[in-house]
Amino acid sequence: MTDSHTSPDIRQSLGLRPVINVSGTMTSLGASIVVPEAITAMNAILPQFVEINDLHKKASPVIARLTGGEAGFVTASCSAGISLAVAATMTGSDLAAIERLPDTTGLKSEVIIQMGHVVSYGAPVDQGIRLPGAKPVLIGQATSCHPYHLEGAINERTAAAVFVVSHHTVQYGLIALRTFAEICHAHGVPVIVDAASEYDLKIFLAQGADIALYSSHKFLGGPTGGIVAGRKDLVRNAFLQNMGIGRGMKLGKESILGTIAALEAWEKRDHAGIRAKETGYLNLWKQTLSGKRGIAAEIEPDPTHNPLDRLKVTVIPEEAHITAWDFADALAKGAQPIIVRDHEAEHGFFYMDPCNLHPGEEKIVARRLEEELGKARASNDIIATPLEERYARRIAGMMRWPD
Ligand SMILES: *Cc1c(COP(=O)(O)O)cnc(C)c1O
Repeated sequence: MTDSHTSPDIRQSLGLRPVINVSGTMTSLGASIVVPEAITAMNAILPQFVEINDLHKKASPVIARLTGGEAGFVTASCSAGISLAVAATMTGSDLAAIERLPDTTGLKSEVIIQMGHVVSYGAPVDQGIRLPGAKPVLIGQATSCHPYHLEGAINERTAAAVFVVSHHTVQYGLIALRTFAEICHAHGVPVIVDAASEYDLKIFLAQGADIALYSSHKFLGGPTGGIVAGRKDLVRNAFLQNMGIGRGMKLGKESILGTIAALEAWEKRDHAGIRAKETGYLNLWKQTLSGKRGIAAEIEPDPTHNPLDRLKVTVIPEEAHITAWDFADALAKGAQPIIVRDHEAEHGFFYMDPCNLHPGEEKIVARRLEEELGKARASNDIIATPLEERYARRIAGMMRWPD
């Protein structure tokens, strides 16, 4: 496989496996296919000197236009955006306080978050809050949170409230953003929304967020980065953290410009055309799996209402002769590893995400599905690795790094 039709695949010369990503925009797989507009812009600026804060100023109106916010700032990641936005609500524009973080003596430093929103996107959300020195105040329970929990937690030490939009969060029984923001605003508490992986760049600010955070490297197809959009004073105070804890989260000129280019490309993207192509992939895989013993394949909408569908593949081990997670692991082996979305595999299913494929890869995926199912069916035993063993293997791999 080649990344484009002209250049050879760099992964081969590096000795890296040529992964085919049907998992989604995962940091662990290199996030997304960076759009050509961003690559061109990054190439153009890399050899040049610029006044970096002037370049930052260029990002602001573009972010404002796309998000409907007053201003915008680009940092290392959405994760960094959480820490910097929280820092902004604690320090304001006080440069001495900015340099003192994570020491928050004398500052408001409590940050409210619903317990059902304290999830891991690869690292814990609450750690992003704690990094600048804030104290997360968890309200409600995992699957229930009501306005009285929020009212009862707000006090004179409250700096901000964080709201997470993600398929990882509990999807019922919690306070919706509009109500969350209304209550916070009635008490003068700014609301920071982590919308890292969401397509809609406007809705969260429209529903009352003071700051909305997005990843540059997910659906936007930009370089690794995080977008901080919203109220100008808060965005500026997040930007000022570059003189403090933000230094370790800085972006280079190429990623600031690459993010601007990705945002501009997003405005012109043929969203309907891309959706149609993705639907074609899903139908191909669904057809490939139809009639296979012990396999059910169904197209499902995205749980947080992004305009994308995925294929849910349910595996009955007794009939398919393999578990869902062993099927996923089998696909991930070999010369053309296929990585599926398997974080719920313990329930006997995984998803296939069509958003990150190069043309032609969908056929390789279909062939590999058939191949591994055929092998499993031919096996006399049911292939069933204990889940604990699979988990232990993953952790052991991390612990051996870099060997
Ligand atoms: C991906 C993700 C993040 C982390 O974003 P990065 O830009 O990779 O740091 C944070 N929150 C949610 C909900 C995410 O999906």
